[in-house]
Amino acid sequence: NYMTSAEIRQAFLDYFNQQGHEVVASSPLIPGNDPTLLFTNAGMVQFKDVFLGSDKRAYSRATSSQRCVRAGGKHNDLENVGYTARHHTFFEMLGNFSFGDYFKREAIKFAWEFLTQRLGLPEERLWVTVHYTDDEAEKIWKEEMGVNPERFSKLDEDNFWAMGDTGPCGPCTEIFFDHGPDVAGGPPGSPDEDGDRYIEIWNLVFMQYNRSADGTMEPLAAPSIDTGMGLERVAAVMQGVHSNYEIDLFQNLLKATASVLGLDSLDSKSLRVIADHIRSCSFLITDGVLPSNEGRGYVLRRIMRRAIRHGNKLGANEPFFHKLVAPLVNEMGEAYPELAKMQAQVERILLKEEQQFAKTLDHGMQLLTQAIAELDGKVIPGETVFRLYDTYGFPVDLTADVAREHELSLDMDGFEQAMEAQRERARASGQFSVDYNDQIKLDGSTAFTGYDRLEDRAEVV
Ligand code: ATP
Ligand code: MG
Ligand code: MG
Ligand code: MG
Repeated sequence: NYMTSAEIRQAFLDYFNQQGHEVVASSPLIPGNDPTLLFTNAGMVQFKDVFLGSDKRAYSRATSSQRCVRAGGKHNDLENVGYTARHHTFFEMLGNFSFGDYFKREAIKFAWEFLTQRLGLPEERLWVTVHYTDDEAEKIWKEEMGVNPERFSKLDEDNFWAMGDTGPCGPCTEIFFDHGPDVAGGPPGSPDEDGDRYIEIWNLVFMQYNRSADGTMEPLAAPSIDTGMGLERVAAVMQGVHSNYEIDLFQNLLKATASVLGLDSLDSKSLRVIADHIRSCSFLITDGVLPSNEGRGYVLRRIMRRAIRHGNKLGANEPFFHKLVAPLVNEMGEAYPELAKMQAQVERILLKEEQQFAKTLDHGMQLLTQAIAELDGKVIPGETVFRLYDTYGFPVDLTADVAREHELSLDMDGFEQAMEAQRERARASGQFSVDYNDQIKLDGSTAFTGYDRLEDRAEVV
C-alpha cells in the first residue's frame, strides 16, 4: 500500500472532509495573530483565537495541511536535524480540529479509523500513549477501540501539549509506529525511548486550558480538539522506509543536492542537513522573512549559514545553496504555488547570503580548525567562539554544530564574558549607539541583536 506524500496529504484532507471538516489552506510561517510566537509551529496556530473563543468561524470542524517551522522558541528541532530519522526544521503537519464540536471519543475514533482502515496500518505496529491522569481517554482506547494494553502507556510531560509558554494547551494522546526490532530504541515511556524504533506519528490534543504568562491555567469555554500528524513521518511508514530522509520527496532533494555538489553518495549527515534547510529557508523567505541580525531574520540567517557550512564541508567552493530552490519547487511547487511564484526572489536572497558569508567562512573555519587542533580538553574557549561570531559572522549555534562533530562543547560563560567586555569597550569609547542588551531568547541560546557589524566586518575581511 505504497502512497506518495501527495497522495497521503490528499487522502487525509478527503477523509476529514467526508467527516464534515472544512478544508482550510495552510497559513504562512509568520503567525498573523501572535507576535510572541517565532514561527507557525503547528496546525493549530492559525486557529488559536478560535480555541480561545475570541474569533469565530463559519465552521466548527476544520482540516488542514500546515507548513511548520521548528527552529526556535518552545519547539526547536534545529539541533536534531541530521541526527534523528524523524526531525526537520520545516515539515508539514496534517491536522483535524474541533472548535467546541466533538471531543475525545470522536477524535480518537477518527484517528484510529484513518490509520487502520484508510491507510491500512496493522494494529500490532501501533503504540498508544495517554496522559497519566486521563482515565477517560484510556477507557476509550482500551474498551472502545480495543487497543492492546501491552502497546499502551501513560506518560506525564510528553502527553501535555502547549503551543508556547502561553496560550491554548491540554492533555493529549499520541500514536506511535513501531519500525521493528531492526531499529534501536524502546517503546514510549521506557528507559530507551529516545531511540528511533517507535516513532511518534500523531498527536491528538484535548484543548482544555488557556495558560497565561504567570502559569495559571484557565479552562476554555468550549473543550476542543487539535491534532497534528507529521506528513513526512507517515510517508516513511507508507513507503516502507525508516527515515524521513528516505521518502520520495527527500530522496529527490538529496539527489539534487549531491548532483549540485558533484557527489556520488547520498549517505551523509551534511547532505541531509542541507536538504532539510533548503525547505525551511525557501519557505521562510516565501513567507516574508529576510536574513538579518535579529529576531526571525536571525533565525533564518542561522539556518542558511549552517547549510552553507555543511556544503563547504562537502567540498563546495562556490555558491550552491540557491541552486536547490529549483528542485524544491519541482517537489513542492504544486502543493504550494506561493513558493513557485517566489522562486527567483528566493534564489536571489540565498545567493546573496552565500556570497556574503563566503567572504568569512573559509577564514573562520581555519581559525576554528586550528583552535580545535590546539585544544587541550573538550571545551572550545569563549574567546574563540566570540571571535568567530564577531569577526567571521558565525552564529554561535553554527560553531556549536562544528564542535559537536568533534565531540566538543563551547565555553558559553567565556563567550558571554567576551561579549560583555566588548560592550564595556564600546561604552567606554562611546563608539556605538546600539543597545547590546537588546536580545532575543531562542531556546536557551541567546542571539545578540541590534548588532549590524557582522556585515561591515564581512566586507573588510
Ligand atoms: P517528537 O517527540 O518526535 O519531537 P513532538 O512531540 O515534539 O515530536 P508534536 O508537537 O506532538 O511533536 O507535533 C505533532 C506531530 O508533528 C508529531 O507527532 C510528528 O508527527 C510531527 N512532528 C513534530 N515535530 C516534527 C519535526 N521536527 N519534523 C517532522 N515532523 C514533526
Ligand atoms: Mg519534538
Ligand atoms: Mg513527542
Ligand atoms: Mg508529540
